[in-house]
Amino acid sequence: EGLLPFEHAPYFNFAAPDVAQAQRDAFAQVRRMYVGHTFPLLIGGQEAQGSGTFAVGNPGDTRESVWHFQNATPAQLEEAVQHAAQAFEEWRFSDPLQRASIFMRAAELLRARRMEFNAVMGLENGKNWAEADGEIAECVDHFEVFARETLKWAQGKPVYPMPSEHVTTTYEALGVVAVISPWNFPAAIPLGMALGALAAGNTVLWKPASETPLSSYLMIELLFQAGLPRAAIQFLTGTDDVLGDPLVDHKHVRMIAFTGSREIGCRIYERAAKVQPGQKWLKRVMAEMGGKDATVVCADADLDAAALGIAQAAFGYAGQKCSACSRAVVEDSVYDEVLSKVVAHAQAIRAGLPEDNGEIGPVIHEGSARRILEYVEAGKTSARLMTGGERVPGMHGAYLQPTIFADVDSRDPLFQEEIFGPVLTFTRASDWRHALELANDSDYGLTGSFYSRDAFKVSEARRLFHVGNLYINRKCTGAMSGTHAFGGYGMSGTNAKVGGPDYLFWFLQTKTVAQRY
Ligand code: GLU
Repeated sequence: EGLLPFEHAPYFNFAAPDVAQAQRDAFAQVRRMYVGHTFPLLIGGQEAQGSGTFAVGNPGDTRESVWHFQNATPAQLEEAVQHAAQAFEEWRFSDPLQRASIFMRAAELLRARRMEFNAVMGLENGKNWAEADGEIAECVDHFEVFARETLKWAQGKPVYPMPSEHVTTTYEALGVVAVISPWNFPAAIPLGMALGALAAGNTVLWKPASETPLSSYLMIELLFQAGLPRAAIQFLTGTDDVLGDPLVDHKHVRMIAFTGSREIGCRIYERAAKVQPGQKWLKRVMAEMGGKDATVVCADADLDAAALGIAQAAFGYAGQKCSACSRAVVEDSVYDEVLSKVVAHAQAIRAGLPEDNGEIGPVIHEGSARRILEYVEAGKTSARLMTGGERVPGMHGAYLQPTIFADVDSRDPLFQEEIFGPVLTFTRASDWRHALELANDSDYGLTGSFYSRDAFKVSEARRLFHVGNLYINRKCTGAMSGTHAFGGYGMSGTNAKVGGPDYLFWFLQTKTVAQRY
């Protein structure tokens, strides 16, 4: 209504020299503007200093720390919650049109600054240009989509009529929403959750991952510039002892929107179930957790397309997406062929600095590298290492080679556990039905790919593949806001489906009013 038809933000073509130069210039500009700076907390619309600061490192070159952020104190958490609760009393009654137009204006502002945001991400989370660009384009889409969703949900839903009563079903905001987000999509993930909360009329306590706070901070400033009242978001950085359990447990927090690990997601789910003294509601928890995503290749499939899709989904951003393909399950008769094609792709991938647009960059930090390499070392004894399995020499950071294990048993931890790095397993299936069974042999159920040209097999996969996001004849990463509602089954989480038609419902409560005259 009143809005132009929706289109996804197009990606930049970095193969064009002028576009590449503009991205390089943006890195230089970001270095001038932000490197060495210390950023504040944002509480009650004011900037605040914490009890000290922490450094954010550049995973591309770990000798460098890029910027600093505050450690919030327990008193500041308390203050932020009070401000959020107070601001809610106004924001809950804000005009949906006003909210939508703020988001549209934010989309406009972000379009003009995409290269800058890409560069910030390159420096704090190690994404190369195309990966960062995909994420910031998704943020533009989020603004556009949530503007439309705001207006859609403001209208309520029709009810079955009854004579003598006028009855409406409408949706109202919940309260203060804590947004707790991971480092792997430091802009799009917290933004999606925060926009869901704000669009519905809630206020937000925004806690970014400590590895990647600037992507959040700049997005919040951009929202303020677009007209969002500054008290609607409280931005808190710091340590888990202050912003972990105490934030989740707080009696004035109405809902927790979390994306991150299964371990933390389960912890939040459990803690939030406890009603605290003085708490007047049952907390709502949205927890989007991990994945152990499989690609099934049937013997009749386009094997080149399948091999490319597997390699891109497994090794893009060094496999650090919960949507990443970490298991290839291939029908016996084409197993060796697909395996050798994917190995060839993996071996062609060159590691390099994210800032220089390296094809594969580092994993987020040394701790993560060590954990991944433990799986790899164990895999060397339980499966057949086809390629990779080592660090990339000569780099100042946690750069790991794209790694492929063949003949991985479905009981192997390599097959069952989320590794969150550039590690891919191959498992042989006796036929396509067996392949589907193997794909479903997982606690998780986030994304999956199915490659086949056979209409019957495809229809069976549509019915039986136990995932929230199933992709047929395409890779399993790269969900687009508004089009591919994103969220999984099983231990992948609560299936809230960000960017989907029902996402806002999560942030709302439903009011029925029956009136007699
Ligand atoms: N939405 C992203 C994708 O489809 C993944 C997000 C995530 O890894 O959490 O690739």
